[in-house]
Amino acid sequence: ISETETIPWYPTPLGGTSAEWKESYVKAQELVRRMSLPEKVNVTTGTGWQMGLCVGNTGPAELVGFPSLCLQDGPLGLRYAHNITAFPAGITTGATWNRELMRARGFALGREARLKGVNIILGPAMGPLGMMPAGGRNWEAFGSDPVLQGVAAAETIHGIQRNGVMATAKHFIGNEQEHFRQAFEWGTPTALSSNIDDRTLHEVFAWPFAESVRADVASIMCSYQMVNNTYACENSKLLNGILKDEMGFQGFVQSDWLAQRSGVDSAIAGLDMSMPGDGLHWADGIPMWGGELTRAALNTSVPMERLNDMVTRIVAAWYHFRQDSWERPPPDGEGGPNFSSWTQERIGRLHEGSPDNDATGVINRFVNAQGSGADAHSLVARQIAAEGTVLLKNVNDTLPLSRKMTGAGGKYRVGVYGEDAGPGQGPNACADRGCNQGTLASGWGSGAVEFPYLVSPWEALQAVWSKDTVDLQGYLTNNVGSQDLADQDLCLVFVNADGGEGFIRSDGIDADRNDLFLQKNGTELVEGVAKHCGSGQGQTVVVVHSIGPVVMESWIDLPGVHAVLYANLPGQESGNALIDVLFGDVDASGRLPYTIGRSLEDYGPGAQVLYETQDPVVPQVNLSQGLYIDYRYFDRYNITPRFEFGFGLSYTTFHYTAVSIEKLQKKTQHPPKRLKDEFEPPAYDSRPPHPFSGLFPQDFRVLRKYIYPYIDTTDGTDPGPYPYPDGYNKRQKPSPAGGGPGGNPSLYEPMLELSVEVTNTGTRPGQDVVQVYVSFPEDVAEHRGLGWLRETIEFPDRVLRNFEKIRLKPGEMTTVKMTLTRKDLSYWSVRSQNWVLPTEGKFRIWVGRSSRDLPLVVEF
Ligand code: BGC
Ligand code: BGC
Repeated sequence: ISETETIPWYPTPLGGTSAEWKESYVKAQELVRRMSLPEKVNVTTGTGWQMGLCVGNTGPAELVGFPSLCLQDGPLGLRYAHNITAFPAGITTGATWNRELMRARGFALGREARLKGVNIILGPAMGPLGMMPAGGRNWEAFGSDPVLQGVAAAETIHGIQRNGVMATAKHFIGNEQEHFRQAFEWGTPTALSSNIDDRTLHEVFAWPFAESVRADVASIMCSYQMVNNTYACENSKLLNGILKDEMGFQGFVQSDWLAQRSGVDSAIAGLDMSMPGDGLHWADGIPMWGGELTRAALNTSVPMERLNDMVTRIVAAWYHFRQDSWERPPPDGEGGPNFSSWTQERIGRLHEGSPDNDATGVINRFVNAQGSGADAHSLVARQIAAEGTVLLKNVNDTLPLSRKMTGAGGKYRVGVYGEDAGPGQGPNACADRGCNQGTLASGWGSGAVEFPYLVSPWEALQAVWSKDTVDLQGYLTNNVGSQDLADQDLCLVFVNADGGEGFIRSDGIDADRNDLFLQKNGTELVEGVAKHCGSGQGQTVVVVHSIGPVVMESWIDLPGVHAVLYANLPGQESGNALIDVLFGDVDASGRLPYTIGRSLEDYGPGAQVLYETQDPVVPQVNLSQGLYIDYRYFDRYNITPRFEFGFGLSYTTFHYTAVSIEKLQKKTQHPPKRLKDEFEPPAYDSRPPHPFSGLFPQDFRVLRKYIYPYIDTTDGTDPGPYPYPDGYNKRQKPSPAGGGPGGNPSLYEPMLELSVEVTNTGTRPGQDVVQVYVSFPEDVAEHRGLGWLRETIEFPDRVLRNFEKIRLKPGEMTTVKMTLTRKDLSYWSVRSQNWVLPTEGKFRIWVGRSSRDLPLVVEF
């Protein structure tokens, strides 16, 4: 088998094996046992696109009191809802490198979901992992490094789920580009295949998902495309093998919207929930599951055990997060979603998607979910937007600006330039934020929300200076003449680059960006302003809003460019947060969550979006460069970036000294043997019920396009034998890397504790991000059976393994302590199918302020 061929992995490991989930599984088993076959199926299948108030709605099991579940986007706020918060995007949150803020944002997001009656949030996103700098959806996730993604994802999940709302880790896995992510949008016969070798899968793409499982995530969404030429949602190696065996995932796998491409295959490969329920075509009401799953269970092509496990996983998650204590939905109660994704009217149709829908009701109750007073979510949003702003250049301490500027003999003159500074036609001008106009505060697609408001930079700037001393002029266009620049002392120029999810094309951008340049003539705008500001004597400050890295070679070194702030995608508090940093109320403490290269090519051939395909069968995208993602590629090939991963200036200075490590464990190559599961999973009667039990109830009124769990006739229900795939009837050997949430528990035990002293040597209070990178020993010998097998394992020069954000007053010193786990010091050995920690040679452990500013090193 070649490294990127899919290996069959059957059958699906049953949920209910971990201590933490035991109680929920016991309750779930009790409930599921009382469900009829159609009720079980109903819980696994969405009711169809727009057949409920949320973007995804499961069917209820009414007789046993299990409700329909509401699934709603997304990663930065509640899509299609009112009185919610438009938080900063994932990428901005990643740029804060602040664990507390990541959690606080998750908590606020989960709270909004709870108040709106959402059971399951479709976020956080950690895939795309950010392999391709031009990828359209990188901004929904946290940055181009598995550890940064993993920490941010885990914090977000903890925050969300503390409210009893379930989080979804998405998209599992390899959804790195939008072009050809699926066939139905891109007009190809199939989706593309992301080809990922075993080691890259473990060390890069799956890493944050393992962290999510450790953080007890309820759900995982499988992605649209194929992985190693099998659709992700029917890839048994990934779902059964990696997720449910190796990572010990106890929750349920849901499909991305129409990412399910088969009925039986996806079921036995480990999919547990079909979303939004429709099958091959968008909103056609013809499901892969629904009645078809009922039939498949009856004829045994999907074993009852598998169906029981699917339902039990979903019901157990519901108990696990105590959603059984939520208020019941109508008609019994007032619970359930209190907003509609499809209309802003108070009263409207309950089944928007059905041609013969007549039922109406109160569907929007406009519940205010934004928090208030000290708990107002806008405060978290603002703090993240501020701390997620990265200061890239600051000549002669141009920043922070003063509120008390005075001009030489007269008023101080400030000009604000660029459409991106202003309100434009308002933030919600295009559906799902699918156009670039006005100030950019979010990318586009399902990961965007309706902004309740958006404080533009221009609006915020107008409130700062006294009109008596400062003459402030706005030119909110990208066509600025030199006459509008000549007299200024200070020029603030705003530019951007936008993109998003594959179902929207705008301004010549087909979701993925075409290049890494500023858009809408941004490059020319910056060059012009920098050149003509104050007739060449003025100071230009550039502010960039972007979904990803921007190539700035033509302007970054211009003498007029005094300072550059990279504000990412700040959300609703954009202008306020910018003021916080611009005037130094908040230190510039954002750090780049990816490398800003000098060209797109510099990221490597494996980091390029496949924009065109001649392949009539399956477009192939090889992600093997993943091990050398972002800074790891620049390091390996000695390519000088413009600004490296982890980089960001502060308004103060920091000094690092006295690094040391304490060994906590002896090095051993392999983690200890996998322990036996703590519990036996629930057992069920494996015989299918009588076929009549699957039929539509008598006199049932059918709503067209609504997806039901029933069958019309008992045709096709005769029990097999059906040939299950290879390995189905012989239980697979459990992976030695498994045995606990996220993998073998010993992988997450600390091997060493590192300590370093950091001093604020400047004159202002500030925040720094202490970053720890690891270089593996150069020559690695693996112990195999009787002998030693020497093989050369290549390693990236350095990989990020831990970080901590600290706050220090001027002159203050602190000792920062951080641990590294066994997994941090291991590589995935394809040969032993396990994590291996090199015991010969020395690790070098680097500490510093970015991936290239690492003044201290210590050996282990
Ligand atoms: C996106 C998902 C999203 C889903 C529901 C899909 O197109 O890829 O991220 O959760 O739609 O809106
Ligand atoms: C929906 C998205 C969905 C996409 C799939 C759009 O119409 O709003 O939620 O992900 O279609 O192509």
